[in-house]
Amino acid sequence: MDTADVDANDYDYDVLVVGSANADLTVRVDRRPDAGETVLGTDLVESAGGKGANQAAAAARLGGRVALLARIGGDAYGELLLNAQRAAGTDVRHVIADPEARTGTAMIIVGTDGDNSIVVSPGANAALTPKDVAAAREVIAGAAVLSLQLEIPMESVEAAAAAAREAGTRVVLNPSPAPEGLAPELLAAADPLVVNEHEARRISGAADGGPAEWARALRDLGARSVVITLGGDGAYVLDADGDAAVPGVKVTAVDTTGAGDAFTGALATRLARGETLATAARYAVRVGAAAVTKPGAQPSYPTPDELPAG
Ligand code: ATP
Repeated sequence: MDTADVDANDYDYDVLVVGSANADLTVRVDRRPDAGETVLGTDLVESAGGKGANQAAAAARLGGRVALLARIGGDAYGELLLNAQRAAGTDVRHVIADPEARTGTAMIIVGTDGDNSIVVSPGANAALTPKDVAAAREVIAGAAVLSLQLEIPMESVEAAAAAAREAGTRVVLNPSPAPEGLAPELLAAADPLVVNEHEARRISGAADGGPAEWARALRDLGARSVVITLGGDGAYVLDADGDAAVPGVKVTAVDTTGAGDAFTGALATRLARGETLATAARYAVRVGAAAVTKPGAQPSYPTPDELPAG
């Protein structure tokens, strides 16, 4: 699709996110525990997270018209997540609350360097089925961009990508957590595939080299375009227009949790508005940088007037 031709007014939503919603349970530690070891951390902080919900919240806070298709439980965490989406400005009419299910949770340990280690308990996310996706066909067709990650069942991600392809909706695919493998049809739908360095290495199979080699390998595997996020070093972009290194923005990192999701949500909104991949990535790098200056995932996401200069 030639994104320059996208007219935002032709769509119900700039971005539809089909993905996970988790409560983030975060403790900060001086040192991560080794296997079999116990360490003491700070007080527990409960906040809204989950890759799908994060990307929706990031896009909505930046002013995008955003909807989220996700599953939550009938518990207090589900309520926390819904309230966070509403506060960000996301349309939550497609969030399914199942009273029988537990809302997904992520147990997060943040070290003194701001880096994190995460264990996710999928809960209700595991029940987001291809049937749910099929019921949302028209919503997918009504979005300029469909944003997908891998914290819901793979068959549901694949069903959503297939529905998007049928409708001509552009797919932004963030294959995280890094999968063992990706179906060729799913890779071929990615425009772009958005990966961090770890995912780039793993999916491309190119252990050596750098972003340029990984991006080419990912395109050779079928992705239509590729964005590799590089933490404080910004991002690397490859599409039909060529490649571009987008420099990082210097900030003091406090907590990188959800920075990749802030980046991807921002990228999706800008692509929905018709920007080129390189221009959208420059904006998304500023959004990711803003997100690492505050604790938490969604609580750290900026509005447009909170962005650092690029
Ligand atoms: P996470 O898993 O922590 O959410 P990620 O590994 O998916 O993140 P990164 O490449 O670490 O993704 O970061 C995504 C974006 O966030 C970067 O492209 C950059 O814009 C911003 N970012 C991350 N870390 C820093 C940092 N230390 N300084 C400035 N910007 C950063």
